[in-house]
Amino acid sequence: MPKINSNQIEIKWQKQWEKSKIFQVKESLKNKFYVLEMFPYPSGDGLHMGHALNYTIGDIYTRFKRMNGFNVLYPMGYDSFGLPAENAAIKANIPPKKYTENSIKNFIKQQKALGLSYDWNRKLITSEPEYYKWDQWIFLKMLEKGLAYKKESAVNWCPKCDTVLANEQVHNGKCWRHNDTQVKIKHLNQWYFKITNYAEELNNFEELENWPSTIKKLQKNWIGKSIGTEINFEINNKQWLIFTTRPDTIYGVTFLVISAQHSELMNLVTKEQEKKIKDFIKKLSSVSEENIDQLEKEGVFTGSYAINPLTKEKIPVYAGNFVLADYGSGMVMAVPAHDQRDFEFAKKYNIPIKEVIQSKNSKSSPLTKAYTEEGILINSEQFNNLENKKAIDEITKFLTEKGLGKKTINFRLRDWLISRQRYWGTPIPIINCNECGAVPVPEKDLPVKLPEKVEFGKGNPLETNKEFINTKCPKCKKPAKRETDTLDTFCNSSWYYLRYTDPKNKKEIFSFKKTNYWCPIDFYIGGKEHACMHLIYIRFYTKFLRDLGLLNFNEPAKRLFNQGMLHGENGSKMSKSLGNVINPLDTIKEYSADALRFFLVSVSSPDSDMNWSNQGVKTTQKFINKILEFFTNNHPSKSSKKIESKINTAIQEITNDIENLKYNIVTIKIRQLFEFIKEEKEISKKDTEIFLKLLHPFCPHLTEELWEKIGNKKFISTESWPKSDTTKINKTLEKQEEALEKTISDINNIINIIKEKENKEPQKVYIYIMPNELETYNERILSKKLQKQIFIFTVNNKDKYDPENKSKKAKPGKPGIYIE
Ligand SMILES: [Zn+2]
Ligand SMILES: [Zn+2]
Repeated sequence: MPKINSNQIEIKWQKQWEKSKIFQVKESLKNKFYVLEMFPYPSGDGLHMGHALNYTIGDIYTRFKRMNGFNVLYPMGYDSFGLPAENAAIKANIPPKKYTENSIKNFIKQQKALGLSYDWNRKLITSEPEYYKWDQWIFLKMLEKGLAYKKESAVNWCPKCDTVLANEQVHNGKCWRHNDTQVKIKHLNQWYFKITNYAEELNNFEELENWPSTIKKLQKNWIGKSIGTEINFEINNKQWLIFTTRPDTIYGVTFLVISAQHSELMNLVTKEQEKKIKDFIKKLSSVSEENIDQLEKEGVFTGSYAINPLTKEKIPVYAGNFVLADYGSGMVMAVPAHDQRDFEFAKKYNIPIKEVIQSKNSKSSPLTKAYTEEGILINSEQFNNLENKKAIDEITKFLTEKGLGKKTINFRLRDWLISRQRYWGTPIPIINCNECGAVPVPEKDLPVKLPEKVEFGKGNPLETNKEFINTKCPKCKKPAKRETDTLDTFCNSSWYYLRYTDPKNKKEIFSFKKTNYWCPIDFYIGGKEHACMHLIYIRFYTKFLRDLGLLNFNEPAKRLFNQGMLHGENGSKMSKSLGNVINPLDTIKEYSADALRFFLVSVSSPDSDMNWSNQGVKTTQKFINKILEFFTNNHPSKSSKKIESKINTAIQEITNDIENLKYNIVTIKIRQLFEFIKEEKEISKKDTEIFLKLLHPFCPHLTEELWEKIGNKKFISTESWPKSDTTKINKTLEKQEEALEKTISDINNIINIIKEKENKEPQKVYIYIMPNELETYNERILSKKLQKQIFIFTVNNKDKYDPENKSKKAKPGKPGIYIE
């Protein structure tokens, strides 16, 4: 028989799918289902194997749902703005636009070769003005609602990226892109989105039942809600509201600490202390809070004093390295007697330590370390003898009555810094006018197009294009300058899922009807590294657009799925520098897309990590060839009762397994089912069709080819999923099957023992069964499976050969075995 050319078959079907437009969808009366993979950043290296895994997971689910009668939206796009494209383009000396276009072309080619059933008609590219126009529109809406604002503050700066970073983009004091680069602090005037307005709602995960709990936990920590009390301290005749979760210790507050990055710090610093403070600030390195808990607390006296609102004592104010400028008011109260790190700080700088909580049993003695247990209040005037837990409420009540404080909620989440000093991003639609300040570009003038003529390598490239910069103020019409900062690319990816539902709309961001028909996403697939960036931002945007009246739901995705990591052979890290990166296209050319897809989901469950194996793909290709060969040469006949039972059981199980994303279990069942069919040799056309349908989501090309070969005209891709005929399921047959499998494995075990002990290869196997089991144990099948001579005797056969009397050991379902 001629060698099978999987590549030819696959290209043939990819072309036919494209020509027939069977994957294009529109709104209908059918139930919708929206499957989405996090869209890729189109790098010049092309698709990597991790992408291939991600998309295979999505495509299998999509094809399954489509066959189950759903109207499935399955789109693809490119998150094409961003620093890597800009840097790569500078390195390769081609404009970022050209570089990005080339990369996208390459990505599409690879994705099509994988047989992914996207509705390509809905393709999005975020660096195209038709898309980013709406990023700018959202910015203007944020501005209008008071959720976009500009302020000067201490920000994280990555010297390698040459731009500021959002807090979410600083990991352990290092840049998220450059884990070898310490982030620096700069004081800059930057644009922010007030994501904190939604902190309370973002902290509510009730509608995210089907999101992984790890993601929700990470978000919860990031948002960091805490309930406490705001207390009014007076410093130099100005009121400062200080947040604390421990108002019960207010009488023990002996100093305050203000963040060394606080914008008002210098107002508190006296002449004598100025130099010391400035030296101290120079030493500090990052505004990230991640390692603040590990830092040794250090500080410098500002020269100013605060008044404790209850004791009226004068207490010193220190600038410290362990307070965040924008957490609460950027200042904290310190209670050295009851906080170990405050205790150490007070000892170090010789500040009084005043005990206000004491254990019920012991009398006071000088503290050698902070007392952090519960107890009763002392040295606290009318609150003495109260249990400290109770005192939290009592003191808060007292402060509230006196107008000195109030109960409040605080969040660790801070506003999202969205401006970047880089070229390849969405221009912020603002015009800076000397008279009018920052003026929004009128909606009718959108998009503010990113100019192509810029020079790289001299700070922000946008500043080198005078035509872009110089414009007129929309308000007073006097000469003014355009904002040269661009939007964080995470803005582009915060709402893309909505635009897929109406990607060509020129009049509005999307039509309410279309978007609310398709959304929210039913099944969203992507890596868990996005927990505190993309996955928080996309929730924030969803809630904001809902509040604009554009959406009638609260969360972007009903179900979120984090795929596992793909490692190299033997678990090594796949990386360019190690030279073990495998291009999916090469694998497809050498074997086939179907083999790659089937292999990728067969190694482990899709949410666990897996190792690549070339040998694995090779064996999978052999399996695929066997299927192709068998069904090409097989003439449909009648199925045995056994096959019918097997197939109908398989429908039930595989349907469940796909629904629960146990793809690896499905691949095992498909292999077993095929082996069984192959042994039985005879199978009806109907059962052949069922087998092909069950295999289709995994191997779409192969199954289309065979579907056609057995005489079908339409695509298997648009066929309906098989329903199990439970009347055909015969539990007795299934049991017999199991008994047979068990016997085979017992025989293999005995053979192995003989081989080891006697160092010889046994040739003959004698099996003693019950008289009614003759149907179960078939000599032909057994000899083929075991590659031995097989003799089957019923236990009551007088002429049987049984030198060791093994037939006496036979039980129903468990035959006696003799081997020589
Ligand atoms: Zn960086
Ligand atoms: Zn003006």
